[in-house]
Amino acid sequence: MQTEQQEITVTKRKAIDSLHFINGNYMDSINGNVFENINPATEEVLGTVAEGGKEEIDLAVAAARRALQGPWKKMTAHERAGILRKVGDLILERKEELAALESLDTGKPYWLTGSVDIPRAAYNFHFFADYMRAVGTEAYQTDDVAINYSVRRPVGVVGLINPWNLPLLLLTWKLAPCLAAGNTCVMKPAELTPMTATLLGEICRDAGVPDGVVNIVHGFGPNSAGSALTEHPDVNAISFTGETVTGKIIMEAAAKTLKRLSYELGGKNPNIIFADSNIDEVIETTLKSSFINQGEVCLCGSRIYVERPIYEEFLEKFVAKTKELVVGDPFDPQTKVGALIGEEHYHRVNRYLELAIEEGGVIETGGKRPAGLEKGYYLEPTIITGLDRNCRVVREEIFGPVVTILPFDMEEEVIAQANDTHYGLSASIWTNDLRRAHRVAGQIEAGIVWVNTWFLRDLRTPFGGMKQSGIGREGGMHSFEFFSELTNICIKL
Ligand code: NAD
Repeated sequence: MQTEQQEITVTKRKAIDSLHFINGNYMDSINGNVFENINPATEEVLGTVAEGGKEEIDLAVAAARRALQGPWKKMTAHERAGILRKVGDLILERKEELAALESLDTGKPYWLTGSVDIPRAAYNFHFFADYMRAVGTEAYQTDDVAINYSVRRPVGVVGLINPWNLPLLLLTWKLAPCLAAGNTCVMKPAELTPMTATLLGEICRDAGVPDGVVNIVHGFGPNSAGSALTEHPDVNAISFTGETVTGKIIMEAAAKTLKRLSYELGGKNPNIIFADSNIDEVIETTLKSSFINQGEVCLCGSRIYVERPIYEEFLEKFVAKTKELVVGDPFDPQTKVGALIGEEHYHRVNRYLELAIEEGGVIETGGKRPAGLEKGYYLEPTIITGLDRNCRVVREEIFGPVVTILPFDMEEEVIAQANDTHYGLSASIWTNDLRRAHRVAGQIEAGIVWVNTWFLRDLRTPFGGMKQSGIGREGGMHSFEFFSELTNICIKL
């Protein structure tokens, strides 16, 4: 494993310039505008990114609309599923290349992109290729008066807008069901992570996706490709993953043409640890739920609540294990925590650390740039104690390698604290008491609750947030519902 990774660092670390992919062809921006793509681990320029706007979005939407009536429409479900399977296969064939591009773009460890991001992107296609063939439809008999059945058809042209933290994984999580349901699309990848999305255009073409079915336009959000896509009158739906504030802006833009919306937004997820749980198992998983992907996962458990009898023991062991996490070069196999995504985000996370001190917090470990790493947006994994539920650091999404730990005494108290937020994405509960697990899980206001685990995913299950963490659910049938229009046909008997 180690040899393989080291070899790849030598042979496969070549960045690419990112062009738009419209109607089956790569193209520059019409006015030639580009912006620089920065490697967050070195602060060096990786290449350029074509900067799209209204004109490129117009072209892409027109191509997608034409493609809705082309060979894509005439294919059988079996043929479409075969193409989706092939996309997944090609992603796996090009895994090393994609994993290296993803690490260069995001600053996250190469072993992580190679073992999670890219294989999961392939699996998204394999999963939905199989799933689409198993999807049935509803039928209801109204006594002996009528029979009702519903038929499913594509929504039309769908805009897919994505964040930078799990670029290819999240993009394919939308693209696969979007295509499986027969739609065409225009994707707007995050401006900070354009490279794997760029390559996906070629992969789709090679797999046999007809021209115009998948289009990719790079650019920024406001007054750029993002807003042009959400405002476009010929786009029928927008599937968006990103910040809650961006979701609000997109909702306003989409309201003018009443687009269908699916939202996966921010989170500030509680991790509730009862004293009867297995502490070593808890610590092993909590290290991941706190710091994997530099804490830049919407599902990270950034608010940790520990029942008082084990609070001191947990804190001591968790701090010790956190100190062992190696921060550094994403291509070093020893690295557990890479660089944060970019300069602006790095400063934002650091401002929360200053705020933590102002609010009376104690930094138990971390809180600074690791010694010896002068370049790159590196931050030590950080544990903060001494803050209460009213502090901004406990309430606001930081989206970095920063967690707060608070002790609790009563079950009702910790449920109230866990729910005291406008977010409602996920939660983890640690206990060996089955009844308590059910009782607490049922009261937590979150779309996903894990018991004695974290980020264990079955792609058939509903994924998404309540409150301001999202609208709708993705996964299995839920993705299909969003990407399909249903017509109920009622036949009088
Ligand atoms: P962001 O909202 O800043 O950007 C996301 C995407 O939206 C980017 O492609 C961006 O260019 C685009 N965008 C920005 N403004 C826009 C506008 N006015 N119109 C159209 N498009 C616009 O989010 P981010 O910083 O890239 O990602 C981090 C956020 O994403 C965090 O809040 C995180 O919790 C959330 N997230 C949620 C999930 C989930 O499944 N719930 C998964 C991953 C990330």
